Amino acid sequence: MKEIKNIAVVAHDNCKKELLDFIACNYDVLRQHNLMATGTTGGLVEELLEDLAVKSGSGEVKKVHRLKSGPLGGDQQLGASIAEGKVDVLFFFWDPMQPQPHDVDVKALLRIAVLYNLPTASNRSSAEFLISSPFFSREFVIHKMDFSGYVQRDLP
Ligand code: PGA
Repeated sequence: MKEIKNIAVVAHDNCKKELLDFIACNYDVLRQHNLMATGTTGGLVEELLEDLAVKSGSGEVKKVHRLKSGPLGGDQQLGASIAEGKVDVLFFFWDPMQPQPHDVDVKALLRIAVLYNLPTASNRSSAEFLISSPFFSREFVIHKMDFSGYVQRDLP
């Protein structure tokens, strides 16, 4: 992956405040990359980025590529983007205390992130560790798993 990364951010409702706080605290790093988000999260992130742009005096508002809301297909859109190699890092603050109507989509997104060996953070601490990595602002080669055995398997 290149120096400028495609970063996906998603948070369940009870975790949105924490994600926004994380973004605000790491604005100087995140503004150098491309951001994408599920619908509702993306709307909140856009508002925050507008505020931060005004406060920092830069006037330059970072755009967020917004997908559909998570329960309306946004998680699946994001999973598809990961499979297509269009996402480099995932911050997904999912709620461990609340069942989600789209639980299967959440599970699918987490699975596809692991399958493609995507740097992923699911809570604030791991997000802070990830964004502090020297690789965050450098090129980084993701070790892709070899699925050729699976693709060429003998079918019964
Ligand atoms: P939302 O979706 O950003 O539209 O709230 C989050 C999720 O995937 O549940």
